[in-house]
Amino acid sequence: MGTKSMKKDENNLMEKIVSLCKRRGFVFPGSEIYGGLANSYEYGPLGVELKRNIQDEWWNVFVRRRIDMVGLDSSIILHPKVWEASGHVAGLVDAMVECKSCHTRTRADHLIEDHFEKTGSSISVEGKSTEELDAIIHENKIKCPTCGKFDWTPVRKFNLLFETNVGIVSEAQSKVYLRGETAQGIFVAFKNILDSTRVTVPFGVGQLGKSFRNEITKGNFIFRTLEFEQAEIEYFFDPEASDWKKLFEEWKMGLWKFVTENLGVRGENLRWREHGDEERSFYSKRTEDLEYQFPFGFKELWGLAYRTDYDLKQHMQYSGIDLSYTDPVSGKKFLPHVIEPAVGINRLMAMVLLDAYTEADGRIFLKLPPRLAPYKAAVFPLLANKPELSARAREIYESLRKKFFVAWDDRGNIGKRYYAQDEIGTPFCITVDFDSLEKGDVTVRDRDTATQERVAIDGLEDYLAAKLR
Ligand code: ATP
Repeated sequence: MGTKSMKKDENNLMEKIVSLCKRRGFVFPGSEIYGGLANSYEYGPLGVELKRNIQDEWWNVFVRRRIDMVGLDSSIILHPKVWEASGHVAGLVDAMVECKSCHTRTRADHLIEDHFEKTGSSISVEGKSTEELDAIIHENKIKCPTCGKFDWTPVRKFNLLFETNVGIVSEAQSKVYLRGETAQGIFVAFKNILDSTRVTVPFGVGQLGKSFRNEITKGNFIFRTLEFEQAEIEYFFDPEASDWKKLFEEWKMGLWKFVTENLGVRGENLRWREHGDEERSFYSKRTEDLEYQFPFGFKELWGLAYRTDYDLKQHMQYSGIDLSYTDPVSGKKFLPHVIEPAVGINRLMAMVLLDAYTEADGRIFLKLPPRLAPYKAAVFPLLANKPELSARAREIYESLRKKFFVAWDDRGNIGKRYYAQDEIGTPFCITVDFDSLEKGDVTVRDRDTATQERVAIDGLEDYLAAKLR
């Protein structure tokens, strides 16, 4: 049996990842010393590295390396009218039910879907009204997943935007929202970007930063959290000059390539799913989700939507400011249309960890692409009690550390150190032995193949740089 099928047979894969993440400092439950806070997490010393490496990869691939892209970092707290114009005040709503017995609150659509999934069937609840959802729950006598009772409040809508107040008086005028997505900041800054740069359509604006949603449903680890790092692009184009279908396909290919090549995820665990008419927003001409096969099923990883000129039109109407684009050559004035790829970095990280987790030949290792791994290498003296070995190893460690994020370990035996590094995905382990002192070379052991080779100490920096390219 290959490692792949072995992995997917493990139905407790998620528990293994959650436990590894806590034990080794990737992800901790949020506010744990106070009993925790649902759907919130903290990224520990290794988690912050992995998350940042994924962010950097995204930023480099989609913003820095593309000549048709620019970046933006707008505010988390925007003018409240932004969210009225965008439709989030009215539209970013979920249907919720509460168990009258144990007060568990849950999303009605998830409650129904989970119930049908458990009975081996499926149901589409997209676009159903609160009354229709109520009827399904009652017809099927769906019980509370927490206490097992059947005693629900009626289904009601609630808004996912977090509200807060600016200033010390909480009056209606001071009410603001924490952004529910980063995308709106791009539309709000659109005119300033046009006026301050020389971008011409087609071009895109990328933004990466925290978004907030008052999620009440069970989060499935870092898949769905109250706050998350969102990475979004608005790709502006002239619908008369560019074929949106072609652009859409190009973006589809770009996202697939990023996930499989840059994040090293296996294509067989991915699929595209197109939204049906009921599910798709009324202004969108096409929406497709790139889905990953999580242990709890194929779920949305990355949303790709052709949003027409809806957002710019809305902001133009609500702000009274002309947001149209003027072609510098022809003088043609129009509102560009957009294609929007939107993803959560935390969700990408959950996928990367799940996909990289490997048990083979009695070993557990995270098969992370070297560029994503928190530590690029670990340096060991073969024996901790030989000062000459430790001193040489320490020199190598300190010199490499100036260029790469490298770990040090001199505890226990070599086997244990390999085990500890494999588990956190360190791609290379460098051991300094007695030969190193004489010949000026070290043993480099590869995480995935467990094979070893001798590399000159002088060439270590180039060796690692080549592996990280
Ligand atoms: P879902 O149906 O999973 O709630 P959505 O359709 O509401 O997602 P979008 O509004 O399209 O999500 O957001 C774009 C992307 O942002 C999603 O594909 C996902 O990767 C990420 N995302 C959205 N909500 C969360 C969250 N609460 N936690 C982590 N990532 C999220």
